[in-house]
Amino acid sequence: MPLLQGKVALVTGASRGIGRAIATRFAQEGASVAFTYLSSVEKGQALEAELAALGVKAKGYRSDASDYKAAEELITQVIADFGTLDVLVNNAGITRDGLLMRMTEEAWDEVIRVNLKSVFNLTKAATRPMMKAKSGSIINLTSIVGVRGNAGQANYAASKAGIIGFTKSVALELASRNVRSNAIAPGFIITEMTGEVSEKAVEEWMNSIPMKRGGQPEEIADACIFLASDMSKYITGQVLQVNGGLLT
Ligand code: NAP
Repeated sequence: MPLLQGKVALVTGASRGIGRAIATRFAQEGASVAFTYLSSVEKGQALEAELAALGVKAKGYRSDASDYKAAEELITQVIADFGTLDVLVNNAGITRDGLLMRMTEEAWDEVIRVNLKSVFNLTKAATRPMMKAKSGSIINLTSIVGVRGNAGQANYAASKAGIIGFTKSVALELASRNVRSNAIAPGFIITEMTGEVSEKAVEEWMNSIPMKRGGQPEEIADACIFLASDMSKYITGQVLQVNGGLLT
């Protein structure tokens, strides 16, 4: 049987990159998939048709994960459309890189709002129906940078480290209700986000990765399938590192 048969999943930020791969792999494993996008409207709409062609129920929503009220409305709408919510993947994220000396207040606030507050917004709204159902899996996309820091990414690293603390706290609060909360920490994954990284920095990453290559979005999606499925039903409060062997 497909690993996610009968489950309803919501993936934020699925128009591109890792989120898109997660939505697609979830559909291939039989899940009904709700997903969000924000600025990439055409790509989001195209994904809905692609997922439906895999034979599952799929629906895209244009929704800003960093907006508290919009997140509440989204969860209400997903429950109305799909009947339940078994899996939440908080994937939406951005970078606004720069050395601290040059980092503006706006670049700090925006990254914390989109990367960290969004996880609070969606998780808070999703936990009510999950607690009622006494079942649920919340998966938050953190980063290797949130574990060990990175020059030029103080805002991003802080947001991703914040996600780890949040994930572990929520796990403790909800474990008795059979609602699990875990994080995935990707290393260097080849997407538009890492397409912005300088050639020199990419070379440094590649040299430091024991497997000597960047990861594919699908390799993160496969880890997500594990944490979304009943294969991981006794695992909560963990950070799963998917990074080609980098030690942190
Ligand atoms: P990406 O290619 O830049 O895609 C980001 C996605 O997030 C897009 O679909 C975008 O949607 C969506 N998004 C951005 N702001 C949003 C908002 N306010 N509301 C809803 N959706 C929003 O990034 P990626 O590389 O796939 O990264 C996905 C996640 O993995 C992020 O959390 C990132 O921090 C994390 N991660 C990535 C790497 C890596 O190496 N790539 C490593 C570690 C962790 P629109 O385009 O429609 O706005």
